[in-house]
Order: sequence, then C-alpha cells, then structure tokens
Amino acid sequence: MPDWVSHLLLGYFVATLLGIKNKKPVYIGVLLPDAFKIFIPLMTLLEINNTILMNFFAPYHTVVGVFLSGIIVASFFENLKTAYMGVILGAFTHLVADSFLYPWGTNIWFLWPLWQGDPGTGILWSDSFTPLFITSLLSIFAFTYRKVVESKL
Ligand SMILES: [Zn+2]
Repeated sequence: MPDWVSHLLLGYFVATLLGIKNKKPVYIGVLLPDAFKIFIPLMTLLEINNTILMNFFAPYHTVVGVFLSGIIVASFFENLKTAYMGVILGAFTHLVADSFLYPWGTNIWFLWPLWQGDPGTGILWSDSFTPLFITSLLSIFAFTYRKVVESKL
C-alpha cells in the first residue's frame, strides 16, 4: 500500500472483524515494517545517502524482522502475549498489503532469509488512491458489521 492511512485502515478492518478490543498493538504493528521511514527526512537533512538507510533497515520489512522487532514493541504493553499477537497481526497485514504493490512491492524480501524470491502480485499502482479507496470501504464495512453484531448481543 502506498500510504500509512491505507495500512492503518486495513489493520482496523482485520482487527474489527476479528473482534479485537485493544487495537493499539495492531496499529503499531501495521506501521512497524515501515517505521524506519521516519528517519528519511533526517537522513536527507544530514545529506546521508538514503540507500544506506534502506539497506540497514530492510530486514525489518521481513517476516523474521517483524517477529523480532515485535517482541521489543510488545514489551511496552501490559499483556505481552496479547500485544505481541496484535503487533504480529498488524505487521502481517502490512506485508500482505505491500505485496500488491507495483513497482516498489516487487523487490521486498518478505520471507528473507528463508526465501529471497518476489512474492509481489503487482496489481496495484502504489501512487494511486485505489488502495485508500478499497481500505476505506473495507473499514466502513467492518465498522457496520461490528455494530450489527454488538447490537444483537
Ligand atoms: Zn512496507
């Protein structure tokens, strides 16, 4: 997905459908694989080559990186196990969403070091508003679905 709003909406959609009450770990997990991008403006200001930064943080944008960095993030929450599951869920929605990108989703090693192939489907242009439109509709559906389910209880 091209933007963090689309990632957050997809995380909201999945977490809401699953009935997860505390969505904070999910939201953090959604942003975790791309968290290093907050350093890009700093690196630009310091005139440090962004390629070095991308290579350094590339392992965090993999399944292994998500599992390891998720432990650190979840340790900030009271219930470590629940928070870890939320972070991992959110991060996986991020990685799956990124696999739909074209052209930038095609060179991310999601399963590194187990597999260095290209899992990208390349069906969504990453600069378009299509992902935001789709995730907005999914979020509205999830919100409505959850309200209907809760009203019947
Ligand atoms: Zn990403």
